[in-house]
Amino acid sequence: MKKLLFGIAILLLLGYGWNALKSAGSEENKVVVREGTAAAWEGAESEKPGAGRQMMLEIDSGEIYKGDLLLINSRHPVPKGAKLPDVVNLFERPELAEGIGILDDSVELPPELLSRFVEMIKAAETDGVDRFLITSGYRSVEKQAELYDKMGADYANPPGHSEHNLGLALDVGSALGLMKEAPEGKWLERNAWKYGFVLRYPENKTEITGVKHEPWHFRYVGLPHSAIMQKMDFVLEEYVDYLKEQGQIQAKVDGTAYVVSYYAVKGKRSLSIPIAGSYFLSGNNMDGVIVTTWGSDASGAKEVVPL
Ligand SMILES: [Zn+2]
Repeated sequence: MKKLLFGIAILLLLGYGWNALKSAGSEENKVVVREGTAAAWEGAESEKPGAGRQMMLEIDSGEIYKGDLLLINSRHPVPKGAKLPDVVNLFERPELAEGIGILDDSVELPPELLSRFVEMIKAAETDGVDRFLITSGYRSVEKQAELYDKMGADYANPPGHSEHNLGLALDVGSALGLMKEAPEGKWLERNAWKYGFVLRYPENKTEITGVKHEPWHFRYVGLPHSAIMQKMDFVLEEYVDYLKEQGQIQAKVDGTAYVVSYYAVKGKRSLSIPIAGSYFLSGNNMDGVIVTTWGSDASGAKEVVPL
């Protein structure tokens, strides 16, 4: 899918002025978001994530429809021919979700998503919040159709329009009551962003998401995206639009510097990305791709394989 052609030094040409945005907040002070290109990165040259030699990455429009940042909603369905995730059945593999309740024997999740979720739940347990229950994971489009027929549009997205259909999200409950009030729900709402997850349908964004408040539905987008979304108070619809509008932003999360760039893609396109450090590429399921780069070790850019 990705051909690494050759390393070539390319200077990032545009030096937009940049603005520090929303620096208030306690723990969120660890998250800094700046607009503009990496050329304007403040601080040591060696830690500038876009610094140094660049290489060309050749992609085509198929990349628009793959990755952790796909926007799936009523207007943007699961892409036709999308690769369905490999999943594990949690009832058959209880050791993979030790200490976490499983609603029934139908719950399936991609193993990578599950391990990220388990890592987050371990952190919650150290805070004394430990009565989590996974109520739904990956759902085939057929299963989504059944659910939609049974529950109606208020409680389920139409088949082919749900993040569950690609294994990008899971529903989480609490053994102590409704997620809206339970400590499990409150903990996740406060902390999920630190682990790459976002509360996908918050109460104050129903007009944008088109979905009513779902305190149980958590979507994986990965860092730094979850941190930026939390900091800027964006849902995914707003975030992908923002990236498109800005072209490039920088973020520092817990000391790691990232550059996030949006590229429109029509047919084939070459992207220039730094050789040093790591990169991650995801489509937006609309018209382009988002490239995230970070780190500056000189061992060569390593692709971080998405879920
Ligand atoms: Zn859900």
